Amino acid sequence: MKKEVTEAAGGKYYTLDEKGRKCYTDGPGKPPIFIQAIIDNQKMSAVDFFHITDAYLNWDKQGDDEAVLEPLIALLAEWGDELIFAFEDRMAQILYSLDTRRIANNVYKGEHFSADDFLYTRCVVLVNGKQYYNDIKRGVRRLGADLEFEAILYAPVCAWARCHLRAPEAYPHVPPVSYETMSNREAWREVTPTTLADFISANAQEPLEVQQVFCECGCQDFRVRQDSGCGAIKLSCLKCGTEKLLFTSTKLWEECRPRRRKCGNCRSEVLNVSVGLAKWPDGHVRRVYFGARCIKCDELFMLANWSLN
Ligand SMILES: [Zn+2]
Ligand SMILES: [Zn+2]
Repeated sequence: MKKEVTEAAGGKYYTLDEKGRKCYTDGPGKPPIFIQAIIDNQKMSAVDFFHITDAYLNWDKQGDDEAVLEPLIALLAEWGDELIFAFEDRMAQILYSLDTRRIANNVYKGEHFSADDFLYTRCVVLVNGKQYYNDIKRGVRRLGADLEFEAILYAPVCAWARCHLRAPEAYPHVPPVSYETMSNREAWREVTPTTLADFISANAQEPLEVQQVFCECGCQDFRVRQDSGCGAIKLSCLKCGTEKLLFTSTKLWEECRPRRRKCGNCRSEVLNVSVGLAKWPDGHVRRVYFGARCIKCDELFMLANWSLN
């Protein structure tokens, strides 16, 4: 147990080589090299964060959260404020990035949930590695509503109290983003046809009339094939199979080499599509813009745009 370990700040751990690059070395009384760099930069990458939660939790003690967290708390307490605060900042950032309507919908399927439930469930991602985190963010894996790991939220405070032999209440640090549920306001916005219309307009930089595309059967879910190079796009209705060319002649479609469009986030192929029209003063359409919303994960993206002669 150390009372003050902040003297490491300011680069105590590295030496400069002849080119002025920082060199960290192992040695008695020094933390592992990657931790030296975190302390020096007062910043922790997501990779380092997940490396630490992979290596410093004792899962042999599963069921006793305090015991599981003990190696992590000991590590943070040993090397002091820079490491503790960098850990908490990255933890908050990761939890913030998971604080989205889409992920909450995925976990609770429309069932009632509390803000705290969703925070404690997001904490599970912190201790399951970077790949798991990426999968949850992309929507290819689902978080279980029955899982939680609230205890890890208090690891920085416990470590600080131990390091400084002070009461946890005196903990001085506040991370730049909040991990509380619905702090990430942008990610909680409802995605509607208007949101997609706004998105397409924002990508056009000229006034547009935007309309959502519907099949004659009333369905708004399509698979999309397109060839952006020659300016051709075709939708197939998910419900009735009807195909629809958008601002594309049959002749051009036969000549082009279309590819299937997938959501860049979750790879789903089922999309809502809206078309934005830029018009000449006489009302003729000058240019068309196509945007899509993934119905699985709500991702919005542009499909194509081209001018009409
Ligand atoms: Zn249809
Ligand atoms: Zn998607």
